[in-house]
Amino acid sequence: MTDTNTNLIKPMLETIYPVIDYGKGVYLYDKSGKEYLDASSGAITANIGHGVKEIIDAMNEQAKRVSFVYRSQFTSEAAENLAKKIAELAIGDLNWSFFVNSGSEATETAMKIAIQYWQEKGIFTKNKVLSRWMSYHGITLGALSMSGHTGRRARFIPLLEDFPVIHPPYCYRCPYNRKAPECGYVCAQELDTVIKRIGAEQIAAFIAEPIIGASGGAITPPKDYYRVIKEICERNNILFIADEVMTGFGRTGPMLACEHWDIEPDIVALGKGMGAGYAPIAAALVSDRIMEPILTGSKIVMSGHTLSANPQSCAVSLAVLEYLDKKKIMKEVAGKGAYLIKELERLQEQYPIIGDIRGKGLMIGLEFVQNQKDKTPFPRAFLLTQKLIQYAERCGIIIYPAGAGIDGVNGDAILIAPPLTIKTVEIDELVKRFHQALKMLTDY
Ligand code: PMP
Repeated sequence: MTDTNTNLIKPMLETIYPVIDYGKGVYLYDKSGKEYLDASSGAITANIGHGVKEIIDAMNEQAKRVSFVYRSQFTSEAAENLAKKIAELAIGDLNWSFFVNSGSEATETAMKIAIQYWQEKGIFTKNKVLSRWMSYHGITLGALSMSGHTGRRARFIPLLEDFPVIHPPYCYRCPYNRKAPECGYVCAQELDTVIKRIGAEQIAAFIAEPIIGASGGAITPPKDYYRVIKEICERNNILFIADEVMTGFGRTGPMLACEHWDIEPDIVALGKGMGAGYAPIAAALVSDRIMEPILTGSKIVMSGHTLSANPQSCAVSLAVLEYLDKKKIMKEVAGKGAYLIKELERLQEQYPIIGDIRGKGLMIGLEFVQNQKDKTPFPRAFLLTQKLIQYAERCGIIIYPAGAGIDGVNGDAILIAPPLTIKTVEIDELVKRFHQALKMLTDY
């Protein structure tokens, strides 16, 4: 339930984590028979729930045909059909997919494609990919260089670039003590100032998660925020990369969360829900205008991994996308999210430690405070998020930590993000179990 790498302490594994036996729909069952409602889809990944027959069948079919071909020798029907389907469902001219295996690889590939784009145009100075504090773009060193998650950066500072440069759109705790839209989106305007200081000729791109997930708990910018960011990027010849690793594939309702702000990114990173946990797969989506100088120039994207575009993973992802599409699951996400938020707001009335409820669709963040009025966070030593997660697990519900103990600026926060396939009765059960956990936490 934490960032602890249990592989390093294998003999203790069973004492730390329950051993999962099987999963069905929104539920997981451990070896002792205990049932858990997966209210965070694992790490916001199991987007269509567990044990879905259509996906298992697609895996079997692909395994019978071919499981692996190397991407510079062959392509596969699975990879080609997946790329076609994504292009069909994605906004604008994001018609090119470069498949990788994790969100970190996807954001690093996006970064490299942005740098390569400028090189193909004869510009070799644009090598920085700026970002925001409190963002998370992945754990590999390039992705971590772009990440503003101070806790995850701390150990590796000497190896990292200083790419996070501006405040996040954290309206609940606005560093300027202002309110949107009267604030004039001053946190977005910071980007303009930073670009002037660093020099646009040094900057290839700006990367942002449309809704900040792991490092803050569904921090959702106000209406015109991305319009301002995009305008600053365009005016300065800087590409805009949307990190939709968590928000993509319908998590917030539409295929890409950028649609909520009506903006078209130049490059998009996808991951997590792409394979819905059935196989590791992620992607950098690239627009026609960014691919054009690459296709007429060196013709290859300078990135890739042995298992990129693995047919087995591509077949899974295609089956996930077809499942979402055929069952019109994305269309129901907004309604389900609104219902869940309404129920959580009821709990907020009873539990004043719930300071803020935010997010879109089925990506919902809760931030906890000592006092709703002055928003005083709990002391770090109280370990509120960790305790709540443990109590939740005892009550048979899995929630995701987001923001606990990161940088002293943001407080205790969690994400509630169940599979998009969750039914109303299951949302009611989720709320009931979460209520029990809150009760255990506050009955001390
Ligand atoms: N970007 C975002 C927005 C994420 O939430 C994550 C994972 N939490 C990543 C990138 C990294 O993905 P992965 O863990 O698959 O490398």
